[in-house]
Amino acid sequence: PRELMKVEHLKKYFPVKGGLLGRTMQTLKAVDDVSFSIYEGETLSIVGESGCGKSTTGRALLRLDEPTEGQIRFQDTDLLKLGKRKLRQTRKDMQIIFQDPFGSLNPKQTIQQLLYEALDIQEIVPRGKRIFRIAELMELVGLHPDTMYRYPHEFSGGQRQRIGIARALAVEPKLIVCDEAVSALDVSVQAQILNLLKSLQQQLKLTYLFISHDLAVVRHISDRVMVMYLGKVVEIAPKASLFRAPQHPYTQALLSAIPSVRATSPKEKIILKGEIPSPLNPPQGCRFHTRCPLAVERCVNEEPLLMPVGAEGHFAACHFAPKDACHSDSN
Ligand code: SF4
Ligand code: MG
Repeated sequence: PRELMKVEHLKKYFPVKGGLLGRTMQTLKAVDDVSFSIYEGETLSIVGESGCGKSTTGRALLRLDEPTEGQIRFQDTDLLKLGKRKLRQTRKDMQIIFQDPFGSLNPKQTIQQLLYEALDIQEIVPRGKRIFRIAELMELVGLHPDTMYRYPHEFSGGQRQRIGIARALAVEPKLIVCDEAVSALDVSVQAQILNLLKSLQQQLKLTYLFISHDLAVVRHISDRVMVMYLGKVVEIAPKASLFRAPQHPYTQALLSAIPSVRATSPKEKIILKGEIPSPLNPPQGCRFHTRCPLAVERCVNEEPLLMPVGAEGHFAACHFAPKDACHSDSN
């Protein structure tokens, strides 16, 4: 598969007021040296607890938050070198869908106005044809075209997320970042939206970056999964490989918390001690060492690098993850 996006050494730091009276400035390292690729047509998920940097990563990729450092190649474009106008043109290839569709839909606009506006921004469809395109978009996401003259509050949560998806699709993007896109929905509605996303992906050859804290959802939709902890990638792997044989102690703990997954991976529920440390002051060495059941002295002093482990395409950042035995003897 072709690489659609290549992210190298991405950092996103935020200055924040700290200290007793908020008089000193501190640096919040929300995303701290993260590298990965997204392949055409795949769904890559980012999972991790809140504050791990997954949303910031998604926003930085689209330059909704300007990255502090790093490189992002999108197709043949060096994204961070683009000026405003070029960035606007490239943006139509990359869209984002949020958790709360109602919050991102203007309550005073009908769906028809909302979608018209989305088409207007990029001027893709000639004016006279826009109404037909809007009807087509409604059908694409499973809504009756007649309902385009209604307002957002007249739709259910699931229907509003369909509208959010239609708005993202209006500009014919290649990559869609879904940030907790189904997290606010009931489980049965979640399944419908996930299935819609899957079928749209096939029909329109879309690529998804799917950000979620919910491993059951991630297991349903992903091709590959990337696990983040305190601004770092701790593990990345094809879905089957990650769920069958997670190599990082943090991933093992996350997976062990879902009963349905526990049948195939770690058998016992692993309880992590303590809370996630503040990203303002992350632990030295391995950032997970304050909570890791396997931590030793070396973990405090030396940061583990993301290395190939076990199956193909499987990487983990832990001093004790098995090294790449299978890889080295296969041609
Ligand atoms: Fe745990 Fe050490 Fe591995 Fe970090 S490097 S995950 S602290 S064993
Ligand atoms: Mg988030």
